[in-house]
Amino acid sequence: MQRRQLLRHFIAGAACACPACGTFFKSAAATASEAAHPHWAYEGHGGPAEWSKLAPEYAACGMGKEQSPIDLAKGIPAMMSDPAVSWQAGALEVVNNGHTIQVNCPKGSTLSLDGHSYELLQYHFHHPSEHTIAGISFEMEVHFVHRHAEGGLAVLGVMIKAGEPNPAMETIWRTMPALGGETAKSETALHPGAMLPKDSTTYRYAGSLTTPPCSEVVSWVVYRQPITASPEQIARFAKLFPNNARPMQHLNRRKLLLDVL
Ligand SMILES: [Zn+2]
Repeated sequence: MQRRQLLRHFIAGAACACPACGTFFKSAAATASEAAHPHWAYEGHGGPAEWSKLAPEYAACGMGKEQSPIDLAKGIPAMMSDPAVSWQAGALEVVNNGHTIQVNCPKGSTLSLDGHSYELLQYHFHHPSEHTIAGISFEMEVHFVHRHAEGGLAVLGVMIKAGEPNPAMETIWRTMPALGGETAKSETALHPGAMLPKDSTTYRYAGSLTTPPCSEVVSWVVYRQPITASPEQIARFAKLFPNNARPMQHLNRRKLLLDVL
């Protein structure tokens, strides 16, 4: 029952080119100029050390003091209410944007965080994990990207370690296109809540997009407990994306909180 839709037009892919990028919510027309969205990569030419020089609007990638990802160690215990997730199951739209596999979400899934309401736009995967917990890296990390009506983002991060197979990821992996710039759809409904851990203890800090333009507009919420995926599931993603994790950034003067409520 899968309906594959190939979007060969480069711009269509570029519209979603940055997994957590502020420009991605705009229509394809918003990125019609390639100059406004220059090529970047995780290694070699255009790699992380060069991001800030690729375009003036990427300056924060080099100059920013509140960048992500970071090592999540020694969080200051704090009493905070858990993020209240109200997500819906939806048909799958899975994009290979050349940087990651991204699942676009239909309207109607929300997150309430610290009294603010955000809408779930998309989620996507990194291999290996971008954040580390007390120096420990995980095989993968999934980011659930939410946007506030006034523009700020809240991203929920969940670590993925090798272990039991993950049924939700299996559904996505069955649909994901192998080539960059392609989109595939499936009627199979998937509830993203299946990829949240049982323990709701989270790290919180103010950070940035982990892809250009590295804008410092993200309230990060990263779960301490990982979920699992089978080594075979991890290998299938790694075959497409051997490394799509930004190197670690400095905490600088920020506070890292650990929600212990
Ligand atoms: Zn991400």
